[in-house]
Amino acid sequence: MEKMLTPLLADKELFSLMALIRGARRIVVCGHRSPDGDALGSALGWADYLRSLGKRADVVMPNAFPDFLRWLPGAAQVIFYDRQRATADRLLAEADLICCLDFNDPKRLQDMGMAVASARGRRVMIDHHPGPQTESFDFCVSRPRMCSTCEIVFRLIHQLGGYEELSTRAAVALYTGMMTDTGGFTYNSNAPEIYVIVSLLLAKGLDKDKIYRNVFNNYSEHRLRFQGYVLYEKLQFLAYGHAAYFTLTRQEMKRFHFIRGDSEGWVNMPLQVRGMKLSISLREDTEKDVIRVSLRSVDDFPCNKMAEEFFNGGGHLNAAGGELPFPMEDAVATVERAVKAYTWMLLPKPV
Ligand code: 5GP
Ligand code: MN
Repeated sequence: MEKMLTPLLADKELFSLMALIRGARRIVVCGHRSPDGDALGSALGWADYLRSLGKRADVVMPNAFPDFLRWLPGAAQVIFYDRQRATADRLLAEADLICCLDFNDPKRLQDMGMAVASARGRRVMIDHHPGPQTESFDFCVSRPRMCSTCEIVFRLIHQLGGYEELSTRAAVALYTGMMTDTGGFTYNSNAPEIYVIVSLLLAKGLDKDKIYRNVFNNYSEHRLRFQGYVLYEKLQFLAYGHAAYFTLTRQEMKRFHFIRGDSEGWVNMPLQVRGMKLSISLREDTEKDVIRVSLRSVDDFPCNKMAEEFFNGGGHLNAAGGELPFPMEDAVATVERAVKAYTWMLLPKPV
């Protein structure tokens, strides 16, 4: 089974990475702002592996992760830059090596970016987003075709000879990121080797059905009712039913006792409608005066292009995000303009 995995790195690259790890005693592992299951899972899994090599490895995130990831083994030890600035700054300054996971541009660290950029340690990037800013790092593992950073981290550990020793905790973290970044293996998940990896992870004794429930069936009653309200009252259709958007305001979030992570994945819901090609969500940020934008598409509709052009962001072909300045009315007007500009790509192609 293990032989069915194609090696990720050429020998030369593998030796460079080994040398970087071997030369480091203190390591910081970090992920992007508003870490998702893949950012957190890959960081926890990678840090666990590094500790098994006798390293000191701390996971530092720019800010909090969604509540539904709190059960992950090791999540309670994560340090947050926005709340524990002094500790985080010290760890980053003292680190011999900083591993940046699930992002490829220091901008996605926001406030933490400066501390990482000015640290004396070497910087390694491990990521699956397109368009890496390689000049910001000493060593890059960029694999945009991989389903998740967790998949890359698993392959690295495997190639570095760490699979036998891999702990169940690390396997749980890595499985979780692969599962969340593929929507429970429902998109971006057709590569056969993904299931070789899943099989190797299952052999570590994890309960994948429980992981699914922990992530996807672990919400409050308020959240379910909020979802119903959004679908019934808030969903707007554009481009003759080939695009949809909805807005979430702070007032509504308060009404439905919103906690971080409650609206995760909602942007996918409109894609359940036949013929829908593009879905956009606009959410008032709870910390800053900005509107967070998420885009999802099917087939060849380029969410990332639209996000770059209209929403100060970017991302993948079928999943992208960005940010717009307050207020919501202006953000809605921007969505309408964006959809209008792309209508020709949303309508069915003549046969
Ligand atoms: P989400 O909608 O889950 O926040 O983001 C989906 C994807 O869009 C992310 O995996 C990431 O690739 C990209 N993304 C989200 N927000 C931003 C942003 O502000 N800037 C850039 N460049 N990409 C983003
Ligand atoms: Mn990811």
